[in-house]
Amino acid sequence: MRARTRAEDRAACSFCPKLCRHACPAAQAEASEAATPTFKQQVALRALERGEALDTGQARVLYKCTDCRGTVDACRHRISVAESLREARALAVQRGVAPREVHELARRVREHGSPYARDLEAVARGVAPEAHARRGALGVFPACAELARAPEDLARALALLRAAGAAPSLASPGRCCGYPLDAAGLREDFERHAAGTAHALAAFDEVLATGPSCAYTLAVRYRELGLRPPGRVLPLVVRLAAAADRWRGLAPAEAWSRRAAYHDPCFLARRLGRLREPRELLSAATGRPPLELAYREAETRCSGGGGVYPLTHPAAAARCGAAVLELAREAEADVLVTACPAARWRLARARRPGDPEVRSLVSVLAERTGLASPD
Ligand code: SF4
Repeated sequence: MRARTRAEDRAACSFCPKLCRHACPAAQAEASEAATPTFKQQVALRALERGEALDTGQARVLYKCTDCRGTVDACRHRISVAESLREARALAVQRGVAPREVHELARRVREHGSPYARDLEAVARGVAPEAHARRGALGVFPACAELARAPEDLARALALLRAAGAAPSLASPGRCCGYPLDAAGLREDFERHAAGTAHALAAFDEVLATGPSCAYTLAVRYRELGLRPPGRVLPLVVRLAAAADRWRGLAPAEAWSRRAAYHDPCFLARRLGRLREPRELLSAATGRPPLELAYREAETRCSGGGGVYPLTHPAAAARCGAAVLELAREAEADVLVTACPAARWRLARARRPGDPEVRSLVSVLAERTGLASPD
């Protein structure tokens, strides 16, 4: 059967009575018609297919999306709204009507190599000066969110990999994978940036990305662009999970006293399909399977961190994180563990009094095995 075009997807959504709005984190967080997939797709269709004018207000509607693909399972046509909106965002950028935050993002990445106005290569070198390399069999590519917000997790990841018998190098070329540019519709910036990052990582046989969206961007989006991606790209948790027996042997015999729930990051669960590995790791570290949230695995709820949503809609993005924390409270967890540096940061920022603590998977693993300092 012929695959539907994006234009056909937009037309289908435009006539849909908003059947997937319950699964769209932006629609839920904003509680507005403008944030529903149907409305966003109507704006995209009018601009892309009908050639109608796109003003700054309409363009901002296109950014009411966390790029989580959360509505795909809820749609009988399995339409992915995020990919459609990315095309429409590119048009908004081209016409100069994209939100000013998007142009500011482009400037920051051009100047600093990532969305953070900091020298992240220096941060990485500070974490593990001895591991820094330009080539090698196994390179660890740190997410820019991790370097900016929790560089100690990178040190933990390297220590854990060494304990698992690997000899990782730090593949941190001072530039991110470019995911925020891609998500924002900054097509030319993304292509230029991705070419530079692909070149910088080309001499590694295998790259472990600490961020799920980085793993997806390096492995899938680079290939779609026609770039030669680095050798084999995997999310860090996959390599760590291969040593689950070792972690089980190093962790104390008695189960962790804390009640840990696991939050599936959207990119890891939905795009990369990695559901088993993080649970296996958490079980090995804590001595029992994690508590499960009411929405989990492919139905996971977004922390609000993707699609540059926190940049253009910070208050609503925080409400997405708060909704995930609410699920953790309902599960009676006192720790919420996630395997995405960006999600960890978003969830930690959204915490209110009484909410569970938010921890990264590597920090729990490091604490329980005694291989690196805990939080
Ligand atoms: S993605 Fe599917 S369910 Fe959602 S608005 Fe489009 S057609 Fe409707």
